[in-house]
Amino acid sequence: MRFSRIAASINESATLRLNQIAARLRAEGEPVVHLGGGEPEEKASPAALQAAMDLLRTGEIRYTPAAGTPELRKTIVEYHERVYGVRVEPSHVIASSGAKQAIMVCMHAVLDPGDEVVFPAPYWVSYPEMVKLCGAVPVAVPPRDASMQPTLSDLEARVTPRTRMILINSPCNPSGAMFSDEFIRGVVRLCEDREIWLVIDDIYHQLVFDGRQPPNPYVEARRNPDESRLVLVNGVSKTYAMTGFRLGWAVAARTLVTHMASIQGQQTSGASTVSQAAAAAALRGDQGCVERLRASLERKRGIMLESLSALPQVHCAPPQGTFYCFPDFGQYERDSQKLSDFLLEKVRVVTVPGREFGLDGHLRLSTCGTAEDIIEGVRRIVWALDPHGGRELRLGSRTVVRDW
Ligand code: PMP
Ligand code: GLU
Repeated sequence: MRFSRIAASINESATLRLNQIAARLRAEGEPVVHLGGGEPEEKASPAALQAAMDLLRTGEIRYTPAAGTPELRKTIVEYHERVYGVRVEPSHVIASSGAKQAIMVCMHAVLDPGDEVVFPAPYWVSYPEMVKLCGAVPVAVPPRDASMQPTLSDLEARVTPRTRMILINSPCNPSGAMFSDEFIRGVVRLCEDREIWLVIDDIYHQLVFDGRQPPNPYVEARRNPDESRLVLVNGVSKTYAMTGFRLGWAVAARTLVTHMASIQGQQTSGASTVSQAAAAAALRGDQGCVERLRASLERKRGIMLESLSALPQVHCAPPQGTFYCFPDFGQYERDSQKLSDFLLEKVRVVTVPGREFGLDGHLRLSTCGTAEDIIEGVRRIVWALDPHGGRELRLGSRTVVRDW
């Protein structure tokens, strides 16, 4: 059988694969602790669930315009103004099946084969693969130090005449680092001056800790949205615990949105009608669920860092947002795939290898589960890595014996 060159070049999403593995092992009764997850375990926004049920009851579940329903686009305009202080028109907004699809159609709209897309490492697993789906070239820029903060000069040094897009995700999956005001301003200026599309993936912007505010990229953007290169991507997956609804969006220049809508119209006809109604209700509804999620993640970040302190050789830059941290296990094992496989096999803890995010030696650990999951998961990791940790470990009703 013959498949396309693109199919052969694309890797499966490691994060989605690990979710499947964790679910399968759990279904088989294995005492798995899932520290690999990338979705809140809270229930979805109540306002969203109500709106979805109300719409379903009407039985009128039809196609919508490819770029989204007028109601959702208007609601996103209001949300955008509330969060960024910038008023755009509904024609600057496209709703998609997840932030993932919003980024993908944006890439399809601006990238030609051979074009380059620059982004800091560590990066979200899907970025390089999405770039490759367009026949373009991913250019990852490694961090200078353990803070995982990118510098403008490092990024700029990788910009060439072929660079068509820069992609920024802050707070960052997997490191939890929130990039500095200075960096965000600099990168917006760079892209506006050099006419490079700048995708800001802001999917974690409400999940920020220590009373801090994420930098506002619009401070340096061109005033006229139709002249700006800034593409702001967001969605309800993380903030409103609505991953399965598959609803995200982009706010960008009208010409770009028009091209994205044409592409999306041919690909999927647009996002699900039910999900669009649910997302609009989440954005308009009581925002208490967002603060509860944020506060719970902040508390669990503390528990994670405290638990990890039992491993003095593991360095972890404290996350400033998201539900991830990205400790460096390199003193124990440089091959993160090997380490992740070992932890799953021996102590049934799911982690995501750092290599998938462009930085070997690290593991991504998630705080999406309960505080007990975090404490138990890290306790098992500590036991597995510490040769003085005793010969046996209880895992639920089972006992593991150290044979390594
Ligand atoms: N960007 C980042 C950085 C993410 O971690 C995710 C998580 N899946 C997404 C985008 C995509 O989110 P969505 O569920 O809206 O497609
Ligand atoms: N973004 C999440 C993660 O990184 C969800 C899975 C995915 O879409 O990759 O785990």
